Amino acid sequence: MFAERLKSLKPYVPGEQPQDRRYVKLNTNENPYPPSPRIAALLSGYDSGRLRLYPDPECRQLKEALARSRGLKPENVFTGNGSDEVLSFAFYAFFDSPRGPLLFPRHTYSFYPVYANFYNLPFTRIPLDSGLAVCLEDYLDIPSCGVIFPNPNAPTGISLGLREIRDFLDRYPGDRAVIIDEAYIDFGGESAVELLEDYPNLLVIQTFSKGRSLAGLRLGYALGQPPLIQALTQVKDSFNSYPVDALAQALGAAALEDEAYFLSCTRRIQETRNRFSFRLGRAGWRVLPSVSNFVFASRPGISGGEVYARLKEKGYLVRYFNEEGITDFVRITIGRDEDMEALAKLMEELPAPGEAEK
Ligand code: PMP
Repeated sequence: MFAERLKSLKPYVPGEQPQDRRYVKLNTNENPYPPSPRIAALLSGYDSGRLRLYPDPECRQLKEALARSRGLKPENVFTGNGSDEVLSFAFYAFFDSPRGPLLFPRHTYSFYPVYANFYNLPFTRIPLDSGLAVCLEDYLDIPSCGVIFPNPNAPTGISLGLREIRDFLDRYPGDRAVIIDEAYIDFGGESAVELLEDYPNLLVIQTFSKGRSLAGLRLGYALGQPPLIQALTQVKDSFNSYPVDALAQALGAAALEDEAYFLSCTRRIQETRNRFSFRLGRAGWRVLPSVSNFVFASRPGISGGEVYARLKEKGYLVRYFNEEGITDFVRITIGRDEDMEALAKLMEELPAPGEAEK
């Protein structure tokens, strides 16, 4: 009854969504603030009769709104059911093994190896540098069918500048796709969107889940030159004509209109992040320089798993990774000010090696 291929399918494991008690949930990089008030207004006035019809398979209104907001044309925009789905379509459309493996960072978004396995695509993970940053220079050394990396990277939060990205694109073969996953770009990083006109092999993927507080809506998109967008559309139409539902199309467009709200939320998260990082650093934690809505931090002598367990006991849910090289770290999503202050206080008091708990 079961297909043979199911045996080798290794699914992605998302951060836990506990139902047993109330935690301060800082483990899946969700935004602590609600989406723009325009979303509530639109929802309460939404004519449910419209749900009788299928949504626009081309997402025209949403694509126009996205194109306007990025100084692009609708032909430069592809929309999907969360950026995870857009990533999956992009893996299918652009990465092919005959020219070499797909390259991505040693420590990065753990969905990449899952998609690669799903599509039977060989991949090579390129180590991070000694400061745990992505070093694009290293991606030029081996033949490959394409490259994907998040900027800022996850789970480190470290970001690359446009100069470095442009320099890489100038030297990487122009007939292979380079995908930059900008899921966390809204929190201070430099977007590669302005490079799109110069590089026909560049695809930038973004999401409404983080900066726009709409993780529950499932809305992501890709930006690139029209041939890349057409290829993604070809994959989509071979899989599901309507991955973006009517509500998501309408609410996404409304969210884009409220730039002031978006900027105030994302600025606030950046300020909280900087204060939180400073406090942890002062208390002896190693905190990587984050340009995202999370920080990656470690403390000598305590494993990430142990920090996770101690914080969970106190009602804070963070994430750690059982991956050689980063087992000392926890990834902490930036939440509301008051929660981050209380958490910083707790973490300042976590005992250093050999010290009894205060
Ligand atoms: N890329 C990265 C690097 C992420 O961390 C995430 C969130 N888990 C995604 C993409 C997917 O985000 P979404 O599907 O919610 O748009």
